[in-house]
Amino acid sequence: MAQNVNGSEVLQQERDADLRRVAQVAEDTRNGMRDARTCDKCNRPVSADNDAANLDIELGFAHAVFAASPRHLLPVVENGVVVCAGSPSRAQYLPGQQRDKRLSYAYQPDKETPYREAYDRMLRRVAAENTELN
Ligand SMILES: [Zn+2]
Repeated sequence: MAQNVNGSEVLQQERDADLRRVAQVAEDTRNGMRDARTCDKCNRPVSADNDAANLDIELGFAHAVFAASPRHLLPVVENGVVVCAGSPSRAQYLPGQQRDKRLSYAYQPDKETPYREAYDRMLRRVAAENTELN
């Protein structure tokens, strides 16, 4: 991995990785190898308010709209043990979350505001949908 990747290269790599992930999940789902409602990392159920795909939709990433695959956004902790890392590349922009330590997902200050605004919209949307269901 190059040490001097710029922001747009990182974004492109991130999008490429997301697109490969989405395509793989869609393929696995068609083949009955996984449940479409569970996290593609840990295979546990994903609630709408902790789904990285929902955040992607709020951020306007088209592939998420067409082929959203659930993935935990924030880390999942059970009995004090992290059972799913979630999506560190996204979570690092949310309040109180650690920075992603992977070089190719390095923190970019200009992404913090749009990610936090998208996260707020996502939580409001999920809350509204839950209210409609009840
Ligand atoms: Zn997970």
